[in-house]
Amino acid sequence: MSTIQERDTFNAFHEYWDLENERQSETLQGMTLAVKDNIVTKTGTTTCGSKMLEGYKSPFNATVIDRLEDAGVVLVGKTNCDEFAMGSSTEHCAWGPVLNPWDRTRVPGGSSGGSAAAVAARLCQGALGSDTGGSIRQPAAFCGVVGYKPTYGLVSRYGLVAFASSLDQIGTFTTTVQDAANLVEIMAGFDELDSTCREEPAPALSKNLHDSIEGLRIGIPSQYTGSQNDPAINAAITSAINTYRELGATIIEIDLPLTEVGISTYYVLAPAECSSNLARYDGIRYGHRTDKPCKDLFELYSNTRAEGFGTEVKRRIMLGTYVLSSGYYDAYYNNALKTRRLICQEYHIAFEQCDVILGPTTPSVAFKIGEKADPLSMYLCDIYTANTNIAGICGISIPCGFSEAEGKQLPIGLHLQGSWYDDARLLRAAQMFQTATDFHTKVPECAQ
Ligand code: GLN
Repeated sequence: MSTIQERDTFNAFHEYWDLENERQSETLQGMTLAVKDNIVTKTGTTTCGSKMLEGYKSPFNATVIDRLEDAGVVLVGKTNCDEFAMGSSTEHCAWGPVLNPWDRTRVPGGSSGGSAAAVAARLCQGALGSDTGGSIRQPAAFCGVVGYKPTYGLVSRYGLVAFASSLDQIGTFTTTVQDAANLVEIMAGFDELDSTCREEPAPALSKNLHDSIEGLRIGIPSQYTGSQNDPAINAAITSAINTYRELGATIIEIDLPLTEVGISTYYVLAPAECSSNLARYDGIRYGHRTDKPCKDLFELYSNTRAEGFGTEVKRRIMLGTYVLSSGYYDAYYNNALKTRRLICQEYHIAFEQCDVILGPTTPSVAFKIGEKADPLSMYLCDIYTANTNIAGICGISIPCGFSEAEGKQLPIGLHLQGSWYDDARLLRAAQMFQTATDFHTKVPECAQ
């Protein structure tokens, strides 16, 4: 864990290095940071947007919180999210929906919508989120900010309330790639409290961030730019590809045919894991407990869970219980695990041909509150992001343009994916784009 002492030394090195290179860098000292309400903090409550955890106060901090506070970051509050991080719009939380600062009739994306909106509205300089299938990158795209999901295992999940443990990862919302690198460099590195955390020190992410990458190979999968996307999104992606070409990158066409099975695979694996992880909310140990008189323990469980969980969470628990039940386990869960292996293989082959994979973060811009009433259309929001988590690689969404609707500017996100633990290169590729463009400097009217 980084101590203030170590961090001071590190900062001093940075200032020197930056002066030498005439570059701007910021330290984390005094940086204001909001935290998604599914990451535990001793200060305030941690509710996961659920009645089940209303008023819950954690007796301990998540590892990332301790590390960031040691580095001088100032926590300014907890941010609203879809209940237990299940959703793509931040409409489905016990405390009401979050509005998109670019257009308050639209959603900010989800499930980390509160964090994305807070950074977009410049209420804070950065925010933490969690990304299980796209919950950092999709709201970052909808709100016009940088959303970074590190490689699985780079950042400790200790203190992140579990949704689907093999997919969950903590990451950041910032306005610049530099801030994302600075934050994750402090958050990353081995933590004995998370057995899935890689046993390596944190990689250097902020150093050399501004160096352009000689001979960067960018893979463009044909599956990412079809007619399923808004035309304005495809146009922004074409223009981003041209920017990279002008910067000297080599553009390579690649094939990721398993993109189309990502959502169906995700919606077996994630509910299966959630049905197990959420079994702990039983009304006995902590959280909500029913007031109704109960004749036995089963009735206590059942009333507590019926009252405490919202509709989407119940749907996921039922789906997960079903795919894990004997008789269906092989047909659904085992098959999803096999598909997961194939998706990993597909990325392995792709990363032999290219260094980063480029595409849109989402097929559409921010949609209207209440517009996606059926669960399937909501699930399809993560079509380009779910496979990143299924494989455990790293991904980042950065602002790359705007689409206009009803007189409002709506941000578009550029999605870059990098290979396992190749986060430093992913961030450098993102920084290259940000150095050449000014989309990330645009702010919504409410923040001007
Ligand atoms: N939208 C996806 C879901 O509802 C992803 C959520 C997430 O990444 N936490 O499960």
